[in-house]
Amino acid sequence: RESDVIAPSGGGALTDVEVQRLREDFPILRAEVNGHPLTYLDSGATSQRPLAVLDAEREFASTLNAAVHRGAHTLAAEATEVFEDARATVARFVGADEGEIVWTSNATEALNLVAYSISNASLGRGGAAAERLRLRAGDEIVTTEMEHHANLIPWQELAARTGATLRVIPLDDDGALRLDAAADLITERTKLVAFTHVSNVLGVINPVEQLVALARAVGAMVVLDACQSAPHLPLDVRALDVDLAVLSGHKMLGPTGIGALYGRRELLEAMPPFLTGGSMITTVTTTEAAYLPPPQRFEAGTQRVSQAVALAAAIDYLTAVGMPRIAAHEAAFGRRLVEGLTAIDGVRVLGAGIDLPRVGLASFDVDGIHSHDVGQFLDDRGIAVRVGHHCAQPLHRRLGITSSTRASTYLYTTQAEIDAVLDGVQGAIDFFR
Ligand code: PLP
Repeated sequence: RESDVIAPSGGGALTDVEVQRLREDFPILRAEVNGHPLTYLDSGATSQRPLAVLDAEREFASTLNAAVHRGAHTLAAEATEVFEDARATVARFVGADEGEIVWTSNATEALNLVAYSISNASLGRGGAAAERLRLRAGDEIVTTEMEHHANLIPWQELAARTGATLRVIPLDDDGALRLDAAADLITERTKLVAFTHVSNVLGVINPVEQLVALARAVGAMVVLDACQSAPHLPLDVRALDVDLAVLSGHKMLGPTGIGALYGRRELLEAMPPFLTGGSMITTVTTTEAAYLPPPQRFEAGTQRVSQAVALAAAIDYLTAVGMPRIAAHEAAFGRRLVEGLTAIDGVRVLGAGIDLPRVGLASFDVDGIHSHDVGQFLDDRGIAVRVGHHCAQPLHRRLGITSSTRASTYLYTTQAEIDAVLDGVQGAIDFFR
């Protein structure tokens, strides 16, 4: 369905007319919820899928479905080809080589893959190549107080398994990363620094360059959580100079059940496997197995082929619209959200004081009204937002609250939807007070 995709024309944010045309590609955006047209402001949790993506998955299942990397029949060979083409599409999208992209079921699995691989290296698995990944008591892992639990708990567990210590870069009162503290925390003992590119609560784009420079200065590995950046910004893992990065298909117009890990080639080659079994081996005896090189070494078992193909269709769609234009659209809508919410009496926008670029995502606390009530009130008007701690309890605790309401936009979001949520929040305040 390439014909559905608007051709990139010029720079700058998407025009209202372009957004209206794009919306035609997303069947779910015509839905009604509670008697109102759906206002979908929860793309930070999961994005909606255009026909090009829905068609790609159906097309694969209807015409090419077969197990990949196995079997000598024609269908299996064709399925393998489109599966590997999809990998190449992801690689181009993030500025990597094909061999540096590992399929996972989501970003959480990708982060656990890294943590378990390091854990296995620390047990002496992986031979001499894996030696440099080894963590011991006295070594340190550094992460931040703003992480999604998916980029925090795997490191807590890794520390517990290896005897390493987890250090956490604190936030200031606005929710900004304390770079002064980061400079003190990242030391010769630091072996790994893991942080998010864009906070899933604050919407701000973190200063990757500065954190990478601190890690590089001490020879530590860098893991970037790109779940909230890959959908919204041009992403180049080499330009950012990170060693590993994770992304999540369902947040970037793709299906659920598919994610990806980028790993610098020589690093992936040194990493022992996480999951083991079929499809990741060369020879097996009853007592031992030899493993394939990456990425297959990390892809045990039957893969999510139709989801991978559909994710590639999503990336083609995003690329056709143009990531710089999507980023400009998001930046403009992020600002409008923050400005509009800040202007409402009794609303505190988390991270509003952080002077960093942002995507179209803002979380807020309404004085005296629980986020669940705000969410319920908005839902009655057909407005979908996220409420709760957004899998970031430490961040909320630091800002002195237990939950917040989050509105998040994407390329199909209109100005009218921003106005609707701002009006809805004022309506909730008038109703509950
Ligand atoms: N990291 C961030 C910043 C996220 O926003 C999310 C999802 O909300 C994740 C990780 C986990 O992604 P997944 O659900 O695909 O595992």
